[in-house]
Amino acid sequence: MARYTDAVCKKCRREGSKLFLKGERCNTAKCALDRRSYAPGQHGKNRVKLSEYGLQLRAKQKTKNYYRVSESQFRKYYEEAFRREGVTSDTLFEQLELRLDNIAYRMGIGASRAESRQLVGYEMLEVNGRKVNIPSYIVKVGDVIKVRDSKKDNKAIVATMEANKLRAVPSWLEVDKEKMEAKVVRKPVREDVDLEVQENLIVELYSKN
Ligand code: SF4
Repeated sequence: MARYTDAVCKKCRREGSKLFLKGERCNTAKCALDRRSYAPGQHGKNRVKLSEYGLQLRAKQKTKNYYRVSESQFRKYYEEAFRREGVTSDTLFEQLELRLDNIAYRMGIGASRAESRQLVGYEMLEVNGRKVNIPSYIVKVGDVIKVRDSKKDNKAIVATMEANKLRAVPSWLEVDKEKMEAKVVRKPVREDVDLEVQENLIVELYSKN
């Protein structure tokens, strides 16, 4: 039987947790983690007790991969969070959630965050009436994000919104799927994020470097 191998799915298998990186496939029996719930590689089935550093590294990698951001972007968000008043880990998640590609994903535009990012890049969205095609654009409370009028009949947008219409929407975002628009009604907090990770480990990791 042919083995299904996929670099993206290896990220989930490495963390032992679904990161929902492949869209619809993640909710089917084809999910690589459901089929092989051990880490990839020759020694993947061996249980390894991680060091303190290892645990911190895994927490950071898991979060970075969940949002599909690069190492340098992730560190930039951490440094900004550290600089601001308040709890560093809360501010870190706030920034990641408020990225435009993540908002698009939460609206159901894109089967995965990677696809949402692509669609943002294709100039599908506007923020407060102005076209924005920068996936890392950070929206603010009160901002209105919409599919541009000229794109509302776009087959890719219509299909992806239909396919993802049952995706849960966090309470900090009001989404009108008929109008293809959303409004940020408050800042997201850590509890809004459906990712099991000990965020204090990320802070501990970066505070050493
Ligand atoms: Fe692959 Fe999605 Fe399953 Fe992760 S959750 S292993 S990305 S199919």
